[in-house]
Amino acid sequence: MVLQFNNITIPSNYNHFIIAVLLGFIGAIINLFPIELAFNISLLIGNTVYIIAASFLRPQLTLLTALICVTPLYFYWGHPYGFLTFGLEALFISTMRNRGWYVLSADLLYWLVIGMPVTAFLIWINIASPENFILFSTFKQAINAVFYTSLATIMLFMFNDTLQKIKSEQPPLQKSLPKWLLYSFWSISAFLVISISLVLSTDFGKRQRVLYDRELEINNQYITHIGNSYLTTHQVAIKNIANQLSNLSKPEDRHQALQQLHQLYPGFLTMLVTSEQGNIETASPLSMLKKVDIKKMTVADRPYFIHAMEKQQLFVSSVFLGRGFGSDPIVAISAPIYTGLQKDTPSGIVEGSLNLGKFGLYDAKGHDKSHAKIIITDPINRIIYASKSLGLSTLSELKFESNASQKANNLMTFKAGERAGEMFIYKQAYLANQWKTYSLVEHGVVLKTTENMYLVIFITLFIVLLFASFFSTQFADYLNRPLAFVIKQLSQAKHPTDFKDIPYEAAEEIDALYQELKIGRQALLHNQRELQHQVATRTKELNKANDKLTELVNTDVLTGIYNRRYLKKNFSVIQSIQSRNHSNLMYAIIDLDLFKDINDTYGHLFGDYCLTKVAKILKQFFHRDADIVARFGGEEFVIVTPCNDVDRTRLRLDELRLAIASSPFKEEAIGSINLTVSMGVAIGDASFSSLQDDWFTVADKCLYNAKDNGRNQTCIQLLTHNKNAN
Ligand code: GH3
Ligand code: MG
Ligand code: MG
Repeated sequence: MVLQFNNITIPSNYNHFIIAVLLGFIGAIINLFPIELAFNISLLIGNTVYIIAASFLRPQLTLLTALICVTPLYFYWGHPYGFLTFGLEALFISTMRNRGWYVLSADLLYWLVIGMPVTAFLIWINIASPENFILFSTFKQAINAVFYTSLATIMLFMFNDTLQKIKSEQPPLQKSLPKWLLYSFWSISAFLVISISLVLSTDFGKRQRVLYDRELEINNQYITHIGNSYLTTHQVAIKNIANQLSNLSKPEDRHQALQQLHQLYPGFLTMLVTSEQGNIETASPLSMLKKVDIKKMTVADRPYFIHAMEKQQLFVSSVFLGRGFGSDPIVAISAPIYTGLQKDTPSGIVEGSLNLGKFGLYDAKGHDKSHAKIIITDPINRIIYASKSLGLSTLSELKFESNASQKANNLMTFKAGERAGEMFIYKQAYLANQWKTYSLVEHGVVLKTTENMYLVIFITLFIVLLFASFFSTQFADYLNRPLAFVIKQLSQAKHPTDFKDIPYEAAEEIDALYQELKIGRQALLHNQRELQHQVATRTKELNKANDKLTELVNTDVLTGIYNRRYLKKNFSVIQSIQSRNHSNLMYAIIDLDLFKDINDTYGHLFGDYCLTKVAKILKQFFHRDADIVARFGGEEFVIVTPCNDVDRTRLRLDELRLAIASSPFKEEAIGSINLTVSMGVAIGDASFSSLQDDWFTVADKCLYNAKDNGRNQTCIQLLTHNKNAN
């Protein structure tokens, strides 16, 4: 979507892009200062930022934030794999958030399923001794991730109002109370567990480091002391031996003395005495003398001979590998011998080859992985002695690398030997003769302890999350139960007095809400009942009025009997019943004779009176429910009645006619008169016709005949079944 105003085109996602970049930079700045947990192990906090981004930015922008955010790690770690694992993390979380997941749940899933395996794989293919790092780094990374994700969650809770102002690209999360509580508990407990554990483990790590440092220090002091005294003792020994030999002039005596003195100093592999010319006079042990031509051998060219002879001083050679008497590194210590009064010119030298392999005697613990190992080098870094387990060969150059941050933490990585690439914590010191001693311990051993601690944190976290799940379910239930009760009460109550009190322990707010809603609901129920009552009364009145209306509609106003409308409506009822029962029907028209004259003579009102009275008499004769007595119009009445016995009906009609004729119609002003009626009657099978008009026509014909025959008489036509009728 694009907004176009005043020639400026602003893409609507511009703001989100800016926010993504901005957040990325904030995260990157925070990541520039990782929190040191232990030497060379640090906690990343900056990543919190892209987790926050994931909660309201679409996956692509979240990825952008993450990539900017982790850039400093590339320089800090020296490898680009952070872009991969954290980039994937950002993409995954944002995508899952889009599908309605909470970011913390998504992050837990990511590290279990993708993050940890990928990290382990990358370490495996990239590091020389992966077994030391895989578990450690994988756990560390996952715990770190859960830490910054829970931190992000807590920040999202806290800054919810501010974030609301940014139009979210993610759908709103609507979850049930238990899920919401579970998530909150998870976030808070994960944050607390990890931060407390990290603080404690950092402290533990530091203390452990101090212990290691002290152990290395002590080890160094020990080695330095042993080394110094070993060298000094043997230097002093050579000096003394030279003195003693100087006092002996006979070669046999010197030979004897050398053999005896050598036994006092087993540190010398071999010892020899030479003449002034450098020829070997005698040597120890005896086996050396048995060597062919040893007496013809000359050492005149050896530095230890030249130095001792020329400078007439004690001489210590540089290190070389012994030959013939073991392959240990040795140094030759030599001193001049004088004979008799000849004090200026030495008569030869005595030399002892000091066995430096003997350092191993003081390195007995060397095979135990958890203890300090030693390396001793000469001033040009050649290895004089190294603990066996270090896999370094004697007299080779000690090659290691230690960058600035490693050096600050006394860490070195071997660059040669069997264990090249492995990292060690070390302490270095000097012997009196400028030899260097190193005490070392595998960094992996320290990592192992931290790794164990991370494993404990991981398991603790797992247990705490389980507990949080259980607790949140219980808590949600605790909160929900009174709510559910309130909802049920409100929805089911039929009467204002139906409401019960909440039978559970409930928060005051819920109770207050319930009271409020109850009052409202009670008022509603009350109004409802009132309304129902009113409707019932009105309906009753209406029905009454309706009945009245129906009665009025069906009644002749003057006479009070049924009118022509009612007759028309109800004729077919009687007709169909009779027809079904194969019974007869009577249809009679009763017409007042010469009524016009009565009207003319006595007035209309009297006429009306006569009509009313005739109607009354008609009603008296035909009063059954099934009978219809109706005023057809003017001075004509119709009687419709079921008729089972024609003769009886005929008799009844005659009685009626006579009753009218004999009834006095009287009024004070007029006196009493008599009047007669004529009747036209159709009697017969009800199935004759279902149409009233057919019956009327027949009866009317009869009435005409009755009038014609002189009035005051009944003319009857009997009908048979009409086959055409239904
Ligand atoms: P016939 O014996 O041939 O029937 O003669 P008649 O005079 O009765 O017949 P006609 O049809 O000539 O007259 C009927 C009279 O009935 C005419 C009218 O004045 C009178 N009439 C009709 N309806 C009413 C009424 O509601 N009240 C009164 N007072 N008279 C009525
Ligand atoms: Mg008439
Ligand atoms: Mg008439």
